[in-house]
Amino acid sequence: VVLPAGDDLGILKWNADDLLLVGTDQVLDGVHFDSSVHPPRAIGRKVMNRNLSDCAAMACLPAAAVVTLALPRDRGIDYAKEIYLGVQEAGDVYACPIVGGDTASWPGKLVATVTIFGRSHGIEPVRRSGAKPGDIVCVTGPLGGSIRGRHMTFAPRIFEARQIIAGGLAATAMLDLSDGLSRDLPRLCAASGVGAVVRASAIPVHEDAIELRRDGRSPVEHALHDGEDYELLFTCPVDRAAPMNPNHRTLPFVQIGTVTAEPGVWIEHDEDRREPLEPKGWDHSL
Ligand SMILES: [Mg+2]
Repeated sequence: VVLPAGDDLGILKWNADDLLLVGTDQVLDGVHFDSSVHPPRAIGRKVMNRNLSDCAAMACLPAAAVVTLALPRDRGIDYAKEIYLGVQEAGDVYACPIVGGDTASWPGKLVATVTIFGRSHGIEPVRRSGAKPGDIVCVTGPLGGSIRGRHMTFAPRIFEARQIIAGGLAATAMLDLSDGLSRDLPRLCAASGVGAVVRASAIPVHEDAIELRRDGRSPVEHALHDGEDYELLFTCPVDRAAPMNPNHRTLPFVQIGTVTAEPGVWIEHDEDRREPLEPKGWDHSL
């Protein structure tokens, strides 16, 4: 950062061999958080972490961010500061400074937006479009039940993403699971022009999903459809997943399925029972 927040624009100095990656993500009161329940610092952390999770999804490092707040008229400056502190706290974990932004108050609900700038720093960004038939499908951690609190407190998988690539796993396609496996896996497959089969028994189920089973849906259903897990979903060639590298065993991932040439995403309950994996996840993009 050559010039931090405070002037009309911030100034960043860029390494010539770094690619610049940029994206933006917002959180809305009543959709991504509930301002009557969640403290402003947690809201700030969440909007930043969602953007950092997109950096993880591309295997890039965050370089800088800008923050915009649309603040309800009845919230004061101290409330806004708490949100900024939350954004900053989340960014500090990955040495990502806030280099600008804008705050305005209005008669509507709270909206917080972060735009993030990432750098490739020696690793080719992983897109959604490179999955090949025969690749294995993997996730970096257990899924489901994030509504019990993890949707506000998750940790972006930036180091894990870099570690997976640096460990020689050669991910062919990757994204972060924001809307649930049943919605995000079809997106990855569509971008790659492939299909996939996932094994129900292989899906790592979070204990939060087990807690939620009282609502009549099984833990696996929660793991497939709930969303806001922010674990990484990626594909890689099966031979590159073999333990060629001594680091391999420590890499944080679980294989849940296989990429197929024919389009369509299937869930296999046992050897002779499979059904289409229908998206029932929470769709934030509506
Ligand atoms: Mg994403």
